[in-house]
Amino acid sequence: MVRFAVSVQGIVQGVGFRPFVSNAATQRGLSGWVKNRTDGVCLEVQGPENAVHDFLDALRHDSPAAARIERIDTAEVAAAIDDGFRIVESATGAHVSPTVPADQATCAECIAELESPAERRYRYPFTNCTRCGPRYTIIEALPYDRARTTMKLFSLCAACASEYHHPSDRRFHAQPIACPTCGPAVRLVLADGRELATGEEAIRRAAQEILSGQVLALQGLGGFQLLVDATCANAVVCLRRRKQREEKPFAVMFPSLEAVRRVCALSAAEEALLTSSEAPIVLVQRLGGSAGMAISEVAPRNPHIGVMLGYTPLHRLLLGEVGRPLVCTSGNLSEEPMCIDEAEARSRLGTVADLFLVHDRPIARPVDDSVVRIGPAGVQVLRRARGFAPLPLPLATGASCILALGGQLKSTVALAKARHVVVSQHLGDLFSLEGALLLERTVSDLVSFLDAKPEVIACDFHPDYAASRLGERLASTWGIPLERVQHHHAHVAACMVEHGLSGAVLGLAWDGAGLGTDGVLWGGEALLMQGSTFRRVAHLRPFSLPGGEQAMREPRRAALGLLYEIFGREAAAYSGEAFSAPQTALLLRMLERSVNSPRTTSMGRLFDALASLTGVRGHAGFEGQAAMELEFAAADVDDPTAYPITLGSGEPAVADWEPLVRAVLSDRKRGLPPGRISARFHNALAALAGEIAQRVGLARVVLSGGCFQNLRLSRAVRERLVSMGFEVYMPQLYPPNDGGLSLGQVLVAALRGKEHADVSGYSG
Ligand code: ZN
Ligand code: ZN
Ligand code: FE
Repeated sequence: MVRFAVSVQGIVQGVGFRPFVSNAATQRGLSGWVKNRTDGVCLEVQGPENAVHDFLDALRHDSPAAARIERIDTAEVAAAIDDGFRIVESATGAHVSPTVPADQATCAECIAELESPAERRYRYPFTNCTRCGPRYTIIEALPYDRARTTMKLFSLCAACASEYHHPSDRRFHAQPIACPTCGPAVRLVLADGRELATGEEAIRRAAQEILSGQVLALQGLGGFQLLVDATCANAVVCLRRRKQREEKPFAVMFPSLEAVRRVCALSAAEEALLTSSEAPIVLVQRLGGSAGMAISEVAPRNPHIGVMLGYTPLHRLLLGEVGRPLVCTSGNLSEEPMCIDEAEARSRLGTVADLFLVHDRPIARPVDDSVVRIGPAGVQVLRRARGFAPLPLPLATGASCILALGGQLKSTVALAKARHVVVSQHLGDLFSLEGALLLERTVSDLVSFLDAKPEVIACDFHPDYAASRLGERLASTWGIPLERVQHHHAHVAACMVEHGLSGAVLGLAWDGAGLGTDGVLWGGEALLMQGSTFRRVAHLRPFSLPGGEQAMREPRRAALGLLYEIFGREAAAYSGEAFSAPQTALLLRMLERSVNSPRTTSMGRLFDALASLTGVRGHAGFEGQAAMELEFAAADVDDPTAYPITLGSGEPAVADWEPLVRAVLSDRKRGLPPGRISARFHNALAALAGEIAQRVGLARVVLSGGCFQNLRLSRAVRERLVSMGFEVYMPQLYPPNDGGLSLGQVLVAALRGKEHADVSGYSG
């Protein structure tokens, strides 16, 4: 007879871990107890030696899918007298758990119940258990307990109560437990609130309306979504027009894996992502043909498509009724946060949706669908929200309590405490007032969840970002220091936290634009990371963007700015048919006088310029569109030629694109197709990365920044560096784009704190 005390650290709360422990012990005839504590669970288990070791094995290898065990410590202790194996209540109000569980897609057992007429939850849209269902989207406060979720409005019926209290039941302590008798229900309403149908009938009627081409607003898990029939071009066009979203691709939700397979050849890894408990939107390569969908309306000129499966019972029931793929997009007006409240949705989306399928389980906060794909180094999260947020990441450096506010686009907030950092869900862009308010609410959410008292605030260098302004305000209200972290420094640092890197690392931050330490818009940077500071070892040759902000929407302006550096007033002769004569004259005057023509070293803008020069795209309907289409133009091209880019001497070394641009112009003149030019451009950048890495000579290279969302670029750069013997690290569980900035800001602020460095200690 032996007895062991065991502590398990990691993500083990809100994932059915204690019931799993209790069952594993009971099945083996062991006695003891298990309880939650701040950083995980602890337990004692007693019985015959073999059975106890078998139990410890099971703990390591058979734990619930959503659990992430960081470490297990065991110690033999003196035998004691137990009353069987019990789950001991944790004292509420004592310590607050640092882990807020993430939402999980409906599990296989719940799906089986949903489809079985014999079950009392047959076709019940809010079926869940300890291993699946809503978490972060319903939690109002910790510890995670029904009374502190939006499910507190529903009191358990006798049948649910008995499941909830029975240790061997799948729903033992499942906080969102519900059934048709006692739980939430759905209704179909019009924008003015008039009710059309309830329950089963509401879902059936909603499906019929979708099939007749209507736009449905669905109160989903983390907010409202807009759904239309993805096989009906008119419906998709109508949604685009009403949502004022011209060309940005839509994601599509499919009724089954088989249905997805008709659109794309799924790899095993992609299939695993789709069916995982995170159930994100997965970006995949589309097969040729339309696969019965209105593909050119869903994702115009795009060889990829974002696909997902129904991740709640409500989605599944609706998809089952419709029997076809549905366009599924966030319920918002473009650039605003997602609606989560019924009345708000009916008023804000009243002109977009024809009908509203709603329910009475309130959504605590907006949590959008995550976007993921298989990149050159495995899983790559491009938008981190449902299923991933707000799970913590270990922070090797440790930190005092740091709040980081991120950037302006694809915003996230991060909070570090002790040896962990939590990054919020994707909040979207912060240009609107609603966006700024959401940022503020998310800060107070995280601060209260982690029971944190921030000692330092970190934000971007850019003073006009809504997040930077909030940082200034909070720092002065709380009387704590504000650390400004340069944009690309943060990009590289984010990837370092994720991979637990410390010490000297070369970071290639290839990005849209972020304010540099010299007032120039950076974005084609090579930074040598040294503790909390960096040396800028190389960057692209700067050029001007006539019209500033407007150049983001008009890649042809970036092209003119680039040509102006080489040809001066003659630039217009080389830019093709892009501008009218008076426009050209105006823009040249702006460039000559440096009026509203900010200087930039941005790689993103270089991509824009190339997209325009090759005739791929002179105007962009959404951020990154021109660069994406330039990438896609090279899709089937296998051309190993690389255009020349010269890397100057000294530090920072200037990477001069002039020879490249001259070669592009000559290829264009002799009629080389844009796809070939694009391929040679991508090859040139891979060669440049290799040359910089060689020159710097550090073993480890980090690739970060928005440009590395480009699959062709990240593959080419990574392959080149790996073939030269470098260790290459890329963002994987946190986005390479500005969604990763808050995470990077945390690391830089933590390192500065550690070094007691001079706050203005940049060497630029
Ligand atoms: Zn379940
Ligand atoms: Zn019930
Ligand atoms: Fe950026």
